[in-house]
Amino acid sequence: MAVDNVLIERLQALLGETGLIRDPQRMAPYLCDWRKAYRGRAALVLRPASTGEAAAAVRLCHEAGVPLVPQGGNTGLCGGSIPDDSGEQVVLSLSRMNRIRALDVQNDTVTVEAGVILAQLQAAAAEAGRLFPLSLGAEGSCTVGGNLATNAGGTAVLRYGNMRELTLGLEVVLPDGQVWNGLRGLRKDNTGYDLKQLFIGAEGTLGVITAAVLKLYPAIRSRATAWTALPSAEAAVALIGALRARCGDRLTGFELMSRQSLEFVLRHLPGCSDPFAEPHPWYVLIELSDPSAEAALGEWLEASLGEGFESGLVRDAVIATSEAQVAALWALREGISEAQNHEGPSLKHDITVPISLIPEFIASTGARLEQALPGVRIVCYGHVGDGNLHYNLSKPPGMEDAAFKSRQPQLTTLVFDATSAMHGSISAEHGLGQAKRDAVRHYKDPVEQALMRALKHTLDPRGLMNPGKVL
Ligand SMILES: Cc1cc2nc3c(=O)[nH]c(=O)nc-3n(C[C@H](O)[C@H](O)[C@H](O)COP(=O)(O)OP(=O)(O)OC[C@H]3O[C@@H](n4cnc5c(N)ncnc54)[C@H](O)[C@@H]3O)c2cc1C
Repeated sequence: MAVDNVLIERLQALLGETGLIRDPQRMAPYLCDWRKAYRGRAALVLRPASTGEAAAAVRLCHEAGVPLVPQGGNTGLCGGSIPDDSGEQVVLSLSRMNRIRALDVQNDTVTVEAGVILAQLQAAAAEAGRLFPLSLGAEGSCTVGGNLATNAGGTAVLRYGNMRELTLGLEVVLPDGQVWNGLRGLRKDNTGYDLKQLFIGAEGTLGVITAAVLKLYPAIRSRATAWTALPSAEAAVALIGALRARCGDRLTGFELMSRQSLEFVLRHLPGCSDPFAEPHPWYVLIELSDPSAEAALGEWLEASLGEGFESGLVRDAVIATSEAQVAALWALREGISEAQNHEGPSLKHDITVPISLIPEFIASTGARLEQALPGVRIVCYGHVGDGNLHYNLSKPPGMEDAAFKSRQPQLTTLVFDATSAMHGSISAEHGLGQAKRDAVRHYKDPVEQALMRALKHTLDPRGLMNPGKVL
């Protein structure tokens, strides 16, 4: 059903001038994602300031049969937060619901509204002497609601898990406007189904998350960071095993990068330099951290790397001796995505396979891609500890952009087939949104898909919550 004047008047009365946007110019930022990869149209943008307002707005839209698209910081990479181009959907932005409702130091929990920016949450935790460990490149713009709806991961998943593991309770406005208050700060609760997990990772298709109770951890007081050169991806898998055996949970980062990834960074990002004189096929950025200021992290790292040299796993290594060096090493890792953009259109895949199969995946998929498109440049990097590889492709040097783009469906099918053959996932972090909605039908178990559709139908029988995404 289309948005009519009666509905607009009711929503206007409910949300006031600041809570409803109709002006096309003011709506524009809500209709395009951060990368400018997806654009849509909308009848309205709603910006409720409280759970009560959000629930009442959802109820009015439900009664009128109007579809809603929940939106946070718009940094998602799969177009999940962008409406379609019918102009009939309504964007529900959580940006005004940005309060930290409570921080319980003894319970190690924080209760936050969905529109809180991730960096603000990290700062609030730090101020209380705690750590909120989710950390990702978009943390200055993405919101807790978006992090929950996409089950965001990032660079510290190895130690702390992704958003599912960091969440104890949720408050959700259901598609008909009812509010489920599940804001429990409990680490043990065996009273039936764990409903919060349904909404985490659902990309806004089952309801609007308005608040959450999240776990806090002790603040980090010591850190050791190293950049290492390795002969192979096999060596990376062996090295992470050795580091875990020695350092346990203190291993918080283990980021793998191919030489091609580093070359793009060195070529395009000013101020970056290669830590080693010689090129090497693979690199790993290692980070250990601990709440104790006296932890002997540097010694452990040196001992582990020393053993790595002896066994041939490590070819070269540098341990950062200052905060500036730590930042410079992380800049090499975090600059890959931006650097690759300078090489023309790229094809991004965000896959997982079991950690033990990473070397085989890299070798066999790389060989197949080279056969399919000789000279294709594979920018492979990722979080080895959780099996997640960013497996991105750039065109062979000299190839026309249009010719490369025309090959993309074939190349993506090749990568996804290889992932699926190893019982992996075609989306480790970014979700499905509108980008991978069709692909997932091919790769996900049919019984699992039928269960997902049944759940969607139970919670949202009229299909009004973020239609066209995920399913
Ligand atoms: C530079 C960069 C680096 C990134 N790095 C990572 C990374 O390391 N790991 C990772 O996992 N992701 C990463 N991302 C992807 C993105 O930042 C995350 O998916 C983030 O969690 C999205 O949050 P957001 O607030 O921007 O959500 P949006 O983009 O606004 O929305 C994302 C999805 O969540 C839904 N949604 C948003 N808010 C709500 C809500 N309150 N209730 C219900 N549904 C909602 C939307 O409908 C949409 O489907 C990165 C993105 C960029 C641009």
